[in-house]
Amino acid sequence: MKTEVLPIHSSVLFEAATEKAATLLDCGEIVALPSETVYGLAADALNTSAVRCIYEVKQRPANNPLIVHIASRKMLQTCVREWSDVAEKFANAFWPGPLTLVLPKAKCITHAITAGLDSVAIRWPAHPLMQAVIRRLGRPLAAPSANLANQLSPTSAEHVLNQLDKRIPLIVDGGLSNVGIESTVLSLCGAAPTVLRPGVIHLEALQAIDPSTRNLDALSKRKNSKQPQLSPGLHKKHYAPRARLKIHHWDSTSNLLKAVEAFGATQSRTCIICHEQIPSAETFSRVSVIPHDPEAYARALYAELFVADQEKPDLILIESVPDTSAWQGIRDRITRASSN
Ligand code: AMP
Ligand code: MG
Repeated sequence: MKTEVLPIHSSVLFEAATEKAATLLDCGEIVALPSETVYGLAADALNTSAVRCIYEVKQRPANNPLIVHIASRKMLQTCVREWSDVAEKFANAFWPGPLTLVLPKAKCITHAITAGLDSVAIRWPAHPLMQAVIRRLGRPLAAPSANLANQLSPTSAEHVLNQLDKRIPLIVDGGLSNVGIESTVLSLCGAAPTVLRPGVIHLEALQAIDPSTRNLDALSKRKNSKQPQLSPGLHKKHYAPRARLKIHHWDSTSNLLKAVEAFGATQSRTCIICHEQIPSAETFSRVSVIPHDPEAYARALYAELFVADQEKPDLILIESVPDTSAWQGIRDRITRASSN
């Protein structure tokens, strides 16, 4: 299969790409679309065989549910069984945007999407192309990130092409994703709103809407491990480059060099990703400096991991990030990426 890449940097191109994507989706094909979080691999959410095709192409485990993307209140109503005042408050505060709400599912949402759960994860994306395609199709889109299972999520069309060339008919190229990491996933199915996956919309921002909002971690520690998980698909290893990845704190270059040695790597085959303690670049395979600001960091992270991975290093060493709410989504992604 030939993979076509369509740009959208003029209104004529935007219109043509929207039309092409919606036509393919209407025929049951799956296509990669830009979104503000990361690029998505989209299928018509109401076409079960198209949804199954996403799992096949991504080699995604069947127990990892998909997020359903909507672009109107009417579409929302067809997807969920219940819509509470709390849900309304979160939606008003953060939609369209990088927040996914998990709610009781309506009948039309199949188990192929929810991995057998009675709930559905819903997001109203802010990206104009994604919105235009959903509106043109007239149906919601099921879309996980447009990468192979467990690998790096794509934040550019080039990243998608690198993993899915010849496996899908179309990639719409919307440039770099503005947010850069996957959405915050918030479950509204339990007694209190619970963050299943942290993201750039962080705990404190969510608590400003509903103070009872909590992290899954604090809650699950108190739970019997035999109880069913609140959310499947929160695999320990995820979002990972191919190279070995470690997180470390250093306060001088000599400390950093000792750490590289302790991890059993050589300097010339180590890529450094840092934001505060910046070593001189000469002796490393690569030194990437990401701004010390959580939003700018999230936007740049996957692209830097992608470039570092292309060098085929022995080790990617990431400088540890602050232990605050605003950095929690980033900490979650780099921790999973560093898991064996
Ligand atoms: P992604 O691979 O970025 O599309 O992420 C989808 C994630 O959303 C999954 O890994 C789950 O953690 C979460 N998710 C999707 N649907 C549900 C659901 N019905 N209940 C709980 N979590 C869900
Ligand atoms: Mg993903």
